[in-house]
Formats: sequence, structure tokens, C-alpha cells
Amino acid sequence: MRVTHLFTKTLKNAPADEVAKNAQLLIRAGFVYKEMAGVYAYLPLGKKVLENIIQIIREEMDAVGGNEISLTALQPSAVWEASGRWDDSVLDVWFKTKLANGSELGLAPTHEEPLTKLMKSYIHSYKDLPLYPYQFQIKFRNELRSKSGLMRGREFWMKDLYSFSRTQEEHDAFYEKISLAYDRVFERLGLGDSTFKTFASGGSFAKFSHEFQTISEVGEDIIYLHREKNIAINEEVYTDEVLAELGVSKDELEEVKAVEVGNIFTLGTRFSDPLDLKFTDENGESKPVIMGSYGIGPSRLMGLIAEHFADDKGLVWPENVAPYKAYLVSIGNVAEQANELYEKLQAAGVTVLFDDRDERPGAKFADAELIGLPYRVTISERLIGDGKLEFTPRNGGETELLTLDELLAKIA
Ligand code: ATP
Ligand code: MG
Repeated sequence: MRVTHLFTKTLKNAPADEVAKNAQLLIRAGFVYKEMAGVYAYLPLGKKVLENIIQIIREEMDAVGGNEISLTALQPSAVWEASGRWDDSVLDVWFKTKLANGSELGLAPTHEEPLTKLMKSYIHSYKDLPLYPYQFQIKFRNELRSKSGLMRGREFWMKDLYSFSRTQEEHDAFYEKISLAYDRVFERLGLGDSTFKTFASGGSFAKFSHEFQTISEVGEDIIYLHREKNIAINEEVYTDEVLAELGVSKDELEEVKAVEVGNIFTLGTRFSDPLDLKFTDENGESKPVIMGSYGIGPSRLMGLIAEHFADDKGLVWPENVAPYKAYLVSIGNVAEQANELYEKLQAAGVTVLFDDRDERPGAKFADAELIGLPYRVTISERLIGDGKLEFTPRNGGETELLTLDELLAKIA
């Protein structure tokens, strides 16, 4: 991509009403556009980051047997009335609207009910199970406060996978398997060291659920952490009884703020009972399907990653998430050689954002730092005679002078 072909421009300032650092940086660097509080559009660079995050999650969900689908945002009220969640006093984040004929609709805040109902058409016998459908979808929630930028949207991206199992044992085995898949997701996103599987409240069908919490000063959750034992406990289940059960004591635990980036939840028959999702087992007996739900927030992750790695100069993307790997800067009268280099880098498999503008070097370097691609490559009149390029890692490494071959050996 050439900067001259990118319609976004970097901005000196974020909108005055934007208080979250992640959104301020992402808006200034041209990754997102703020429509209103908690509602952001994804621009070319931001769309690529979101897609990179989604693709990592997709690969890990497919690896544990996921079937990707896409459910509808428009929801008729009946199925939610059946589960008891249509009432605003039960589920307080609904956006509701009406059809022209007056019947009520909601914009899906989650998808347990419609998917359970849909599965009645496909699950009949034990031979049809287990199943693991999942999707990436925009969810709508009328969140009371939305001051954390992309981390708490009123419309936001969610990956939601649901498990449909025959027995509790089959459910438990999958629950462990997807928990490991979540570890791999956060590892690949560069958050492995700061993300902890955390005991949280379990609802009616399990003692605990598990949240994946990333330590962050701007987190809205409090967790208690034992780093050596790799145990984390959400404050909502931080009781003497739970501490005893987990074999830890208060004085060994660190209190930290964290952001919930994902969760895994045993649903039991919470939805299969009211919506009557049953299967016939090997003995011809009719039984309710055992369910679980497994969420991750790709747009919350984008905000978190932006905020987590940023420095005083701008964004610093981990390689697996960055929209492009290299930011190519040309200085002076080297247009032809810069074009050639742009082609060569791409031919070697390096994705490149090429700053081909007629701008001062200082302005190009400042944008390179704000946008935060992993590597800056500079081709200049001064060094071209020696066959050298300037190579500058964004994450604080020293600038080196390299030949093209040396450069490719490092990043291709
Ligand atoms: P929170 O406690 O932060 O409100 P939640 O318990 O409501 O989260 P779920 O309904 O389980 O979250 O959603 C699954 C995942 O979707 C969460 O783990 C989080 O990563 C993401 N998520 C939830 N709400 C939002 C939001 N308003 N904006 C962005 N991401 C969200
Ligand atoms: Mg919530």
C-alpha cells in the first residue's frame, strides 16, 4: 500500500470528547473513526488489524473442531421470552426496535437463544453430537458507560462459540480443550505473558466459569494473582472458601486491574431446557443437550493491544497483528530506487506501507512512529551510494545500516 493511495491522514489531535488512550491513538493514526461514544468505524489500517486478530482466533477455533457460521443481528422477541431474557430488567443492555407491523425486535447482544433454537433443526440423535458452531459478529449492547474506547463498545466485534455435548464428561473435555486454544490465541497476539485464566462466577451449572484477564492499568476488573502458581481469581469469587479450595492465602496474592479479553462458561441446560433442545441417546432415551459458551472480544483486543504496547511516540504493533510489517520511507531524489525496493520487499513476502509522499523526512518519521509498524526501512540519497538502507525496529531497537540481503534475512 502506498501512503498516497491511503485516504486516511494522521491527525495532530483526537476528538476532544475521546478520553480513552487506545481510541485517541487509533483515531490519530487513522485506524478508526469515531461515530459516537462506543461506536467506531474501521478504516483501512484498522480493518487489517481487526482481520489479523480474527484470523488468529479463527485458526484456533477451527483447530478444536469449530464450524464457522454467521447468525442474524435482528432478533424476534419470542425466543428470548422463552428463556426469560427479553425483559429489560433481566438483560439491561438491549437495543429494541419494531417491525412496520408493530412486532418487537431486538439487536442481538449475544446469541445463545437463537442458536439453541436453530440447532433444533439439526440435532436429533446422539450421532449428531458434539457440535461447535462459532461466529465473528457485531454485537449490540446499550452499555451504560462507554469511556474505554474500543474496549467497551456499544457495537463491538465478538467471537462466540457454543458447544453442544451429549454428557457432562464430553462437555468438560471440550471445556479444557478450548481453554488451551484460548491460551494459544493470547500467546499469538503477544499477550501471553500478561493474560491469566481467572476463576469467575459459574452460574447455576458450574462452580466457576473462567475469564481470560489481561493485566492493564485501565482494566475495569480487579483480579487477585499468584504468578508462580499461575492462579488468578476475580474479585467476584474472592472468598475465604474459594481461597482454601485453590490452596492459596490472601497474603500471597497480588491485587491487579485487568481487562476481560475472553471467557468460557458452562451453560448446562440453562437454554436447552426452556427452548426444548433434546437428543435421543444410544438407548433411545430423550435427553437435554449440555451447552457451553465461549467468547472473545476482537475489537476489545484491538483497543487493548493498541494501549498495552504504545509508547510516547505512538502505536507499537506486535508482528502478528500489524497491518503491514514494514514502513518504507524514501528521502531525497530516490523515487525510482524506492519503487524498486517496494517491489522487492513485497516479492520477498514482506507487507509494506510505502510513504511515497513528497514530505519532509521528519514528518514521515513521525507518522511511521505514530502508525507503529514493526520495522521502518529508509532509503535515502545519502546512503544509496554505499548500497545501504536504514533499518529501525519500532519496539526500541537500534537503527542499523544494512544491505537489502541483510535486511531480508532479518524480516522476510
Ligand atoms: P464485561 O464484563 O466486560 O461487560 P461480559 O461479561 O459482558 O464482559 P460477554 O458477554 O461474555 O462479556 O462477552 C464475551 C466477550 O466479548 C468478553 O470477554 C469481551 O472480550 C467482549 N466484550 C463484552 N462486552 C464488550 C463491549 N461492550 N465492548 C467490546 N467488547 C466486549
Ligand atoms: Mg457486559
